[in-house]
Amino acid sequence: MGKTFGRRESLKVMVRGVPIGGGSPVTVQTMIKRPPEDVEGIIADIKLLAAQGCDIIRLAIPDENAARSIKQIVTQSPIPVVADVHFHPKLALLSIEAGVHKLRLNPGNIRRTTDVIAIAREAKSAGIPIRVGVNSGSIPQDLREKYGDDKISPLVEGAERHVAILNDAGFHDIVVAIKSSDVEEMIAANRAYAAKHSEPLHLGVTESGTLYMGSVRSSVGIGVLLEEGTGDTIRVSLAADPTWEVRCGLEILRSLGLKPKGLRVIACPACGRAEIDVHALAERIEAAMEGLQGDLDIAVMGCVVNGPGEVGAADIGICGGKGRGVIVVGGGWLEVASEDELIDKFMVELNALLDKS
Ligand code: SF4
Repeated sequence: MGKTFGRRESLKVMVRGVPIGGGSPVTVQTMIKRPPEDVEGIIADIKLLAAQGCDIIRLAIPDENAARSIKQIVTQSPIPVVADVHFHPKLALLSIEAGVHKLRLNPGNIRRTTDVIAIAREAKSAGIPIRVGVNSGSIPQDLREKYGDDKISPLVEGAERHVAILNDAGFHDIVVAIKSSDVEEMIAANRAYAAKHSEPLHLGVTESGTLYMGSVRSSVGIGVLLEEGTGDTIRVSLAADPTWEVRCGLEILRSLGLKPKGLRVIACPACGRAEIDVHALAERIEAAMEGLQGDLDIAVMGCVVNGPGEVGAADIGICGGKGRGVIVVGGGWLEVASEDELIDKFMVELNALLDKS
């Protein structure tokens, strides 16, 4: 499925049956934002996110209660679960014991080598990979001083350090993430790492911002690298509900031909010629399509100037006229309906088309 030609050759790791790297389809991840004690809420969130297309879910494990409650989550989750642990080796070991499918942890932040070796040994025997990495906010002081104004090299070397610690402990099942809140830095650092190493890469722009700013910034950072063939799994970090992170991640992959396009609404931006409310119509169609599966281009156009051409080229669409619209399927004009009836009639035709496809 999707584009594989021209992808960077990376090693493959398995996260409970979901591959990352080695030419596998690029996966979409997000993170649970509820407090860890809300186990029922977390399980419900994971099921919803999985139904929306999320491939892998990550949870912060800030304390021992969270590490223990992850067992119930892992058992009920339809997708692989990653435990995000910082500084505390015991939390990593408890998470492995609870059955998580991957760890996110930086071995350089764990003081005793014996603890790193113990985590590596347990992860290896459980058959789970470890994601290591750096972001622009956590570069060690000595690397900052070593490289001065060069912001890229400390990110790359910081990641290399974490990988080397695990390699020294005999562990090689590693995914690397190099994130920055600066999009250009994130792109340059990932390019530099990808040119030197073969671990699969987890891409993301960290603290990318609100739904609007974050989606744009993440799409640019992640999209540029993916288009160059670099990147094996992605997370769009947004100051918004995780469902938006998944939707945005999937749309990035679809835009680049790395996932089937799905049900893609193409709406004209509307202008002074629009004779129906295109924005409201497109949003209502998107809402009505929630949960439907398929692979179709759906065009919603505001007037008869450019409308017929675009709608004719789509699989199905609506071309607006004064207070009404024409439903067009496969280039053929099917039905003229008033603005009030348009959505219901359109959905009947869309469902009929999906049944046939
Ligand atoms: Fe304007 Fe019509 Fe083009 Fe929409 S399709 S942007 S309404 S000219």
